[in-house]
Amino acid sequence: MSLDTLAVSKNTKEYRCRKPQYSPYYRCIEDNYEAFERIYDSKYQEKYGFLRPIVSKVIYQYLDCGILANGFARVKCRNCKHEYLLAFSCKRRHFCLSCHAKRVVQFGEFACSNVLKNVPHRHFVFSVPKIIRIYFLFDRTLLKDLAKIAWEVLSCYYKNTVGKENTLPAAICSIQTFGDMLGYNPHLHILCADGGFGDSGIFYAAASDLDGPSLEPLFRHKILSMLKRRGLTGDRVIELISNWRHSGFNVYSSDRIYPGDGQSMENIARYIIRASFSTERLNYMASESRVIYKSKTGNDTKEFDALDFIASITSHIPNRNEQTVRYLGYYSNVSRGKRKKQGACESDCVIEDDGCVKGANKSRARLIKKIYEVDPLTCPKCKGQMRIIAFIEDYKVIRKIPDWLGIDEFRRDRPPPERLQAADLFDDFSQNDYTDCDYRDY
Ligand SMILES: [Zn+2]
Ligand SMILES: [Zn+2]
Repeated sequence: MSLDTLAVSKNTKEYRCRKPQYSPYYRCIEDNYEAFERIYDSKYQEKYGFLRPIVSKVIYQYLDCGILANGFARVKCRNCKHEYLLAFSCKRRHFCLSCHAKRVVQFGEFACSNVLKNVPHRHFVFSVPKIIRIYFLFDRTLLKDLAKIAWEVLSCYYKNTVGKENTLPAAICSIQTFGDMLGYNPHLHILCADGGFGDSGIFYAAASDLDGPSLEPLFRHKILSMLKRRGLTGDRVIELISNWRHSGFNVYSSDRIYPGDGQSMENIARYIIRASFSTERLNYMASESRVIYKSKTGNDTKEFDALDFIASITSHIPNRNEQTVRYLGYYSNVSRGKRKKQGACESDCVIEDDGCVKGANKSRARLIKKIYEVDPLTCPKCKGQMRIIAFIEDYKVIRKIPDWLGIDEFRRDRPPPERLQAADLFDDFSQNDYTDCDYRDY
């Protein structure tokens, strides 16, 4: 048996274990997470609210993600019997950048192939002023109201402007909570059809002269009313904000994106669910426990104490079952389900086929190529088809196999509080139809 993928020759392009434990980000988390948990209540509770159980869970699972010592699959070539080990991944949003990146690619593919129609679209961004952001930080259920209100504003606009009876607007809405320098800035990215769909699926385009900021007063009014209804703001604050020259509420709308521009649509789809930060912009100085983070443009930097940095990025971890992406109107799961039942033709997706594999395999192959660049199930030796022959989850066996192979993966002795599951890895290779909780309607 040759399990030599981990020491691959420089000339062979093949799937490799990524060894996350050597990245500055991983080291920052590993060095500081225990202190972070210990002092959270005294140092961060006032600013960020209580330490949500999901935060510790995500941190621990991230520390185990992609590490052979925590379980793996054996992948073997049917043809030449070449074999390697593939570590389990944690599948966590935002905090684990490797898993989040896979999710972004999968989402872009899914949205363009299964949801978005080949009609004009616009990209909207709805944001709120600093003074009210803290409400959304302390009560993340308000984010749902934020999305609902923006959708009401857009639906109202499109229904009126199209001017046909019973037209249904359509959008994908993504909730984000981070600003450029990792601060808490709840806002929405909405990829919205620029018009409405009639009963028979005919699309009526809106006039092309939309002015995004003209939607701001209605958005502001509805958000402030919602906060008042919930007892969070009084008339005095509402009056104060209403009298500001710039209220801090914002509605940005992009130019129209024309049908057929599949690449732009896929790029925007990926952009709207991107991770809250980037490791390329991060520098960790272990000896001083400090993190330097660069702005998107690279012109600005912010220096964090490592614990402050962790507090900041963990504030963007969604709660369990929290839906950060919503499908709305004609793109809602209900509408799509109905059309599927009626056998309506849903084939006018905006991505062209690459023509390399047939049917369902085609989309799987395309997806895997996008996620990994190199298909982990294509043999690097003979290009034959590889398959997963076993999932190794038993801690004793896990220790034996890499020990026997001489792989130095056991720096940490700590068994994780909750093991990663083989099912998580298998998910990478299955036809995921995105019916998970993230992608449901209201
Ligand atoms: Zn082979
Ligand atoms: Zn992960």
